[in-house]
Amino acid sequence: MAEKIVVNHLVKKFGDNTVLDDLNITIKEGEVVCIIGPSGSGKSTFLRCMNALEEATEGHVVIDGKDLTDKNTDINLVRQHIGMVFQHFNLFPHLTVLENIVLAPMDLKGESRESAEKRGMDLLAQVGLEEKRAVYPESLSGGQKQRVAIARALAMNPDIMLFDEPTSALDPEMVGDVLRVMKDLALQGMTMVIVTHEMGFAKEVADRVIFTDGGKILEDGTPEQVFNDPQNPRTKDFLEKVL
Ligand code: ADP
Ligand code: MG
Repeated sequence: MAEKIVVNHLVKKFGDNTVLDDLNITIKEGEVVCIIGPSGSGKSTFLRCMNALEEATEGHVVIDGKDLTDKNTDINLVRQHIGMVFQHFNLFPHLTVLENIVLAPMDLKGESRESAEKRGMDLLAQVGLEEKRAVYPESLSGGQKQRVAIARALAMNPDIMLFDEPTSALDPEMVGDVLRVMKDLALQGMTMVIVTHEMGFAKEVADRVIFTDGGKILEDGTPEQVFNDPQNPRTKDFLEKVL
């Protein structure tokens, strides 16, 4: 399988705070990678470096062969192939559900309204929200908002999806619907990197689990390896607290 994301000696500093300390990973096409770790360990920063929302201080992040740290790389073009879903949805409040979804394909890719809306409705069906096309985000539950956010990200036909704690802001009864949509995507072969505290989901759906602490990758293995036979005492300590 092709290498989709190659992270090479990535260092990220905020002032003299080293948040990512020499990270190295390669993620292949179709892989589903869950990143777990304590709060403040740099998980969000790591994810944000993967679509250049944060600039690397040192090292390289290569997406589909294109180095995001190379000044000659058209970052906006690379980003069009990367969908991102955040903890707090970030939907546009003044646009209806369907308008949220068709905006980027029409604006950035010059798609016709007709074709963007057709695809938008297919995506709403995929996340189980066809009947919500004309409502505004404020009338949706958190879980529904997050499913719209996923549909919106998919509207650009990304081949990588990044998720930053997509279910952390949701009431418990909403979590399952969102995870189901994500699992479907994984089964369809999407390359996914997911920061999550949902250990059950990571066990069931991830091909790989990465544990980060103190800006380092302390564990990188299959869910069985990381959950059942962690190599680092800090992983054991973390898992005892969350499992
Ligand atoms: P996590 O997602 O694992 O909770 P973050 O990546 O959000 O961790 O943050 C890791 C560290 O980087 C924290 O100490 C945080 O305060 C710091 N940090 C994150 N973003 C910024 C920023 N824009 N400016 C300064 N410090 C930041
Ligand atoms: Mg975070």
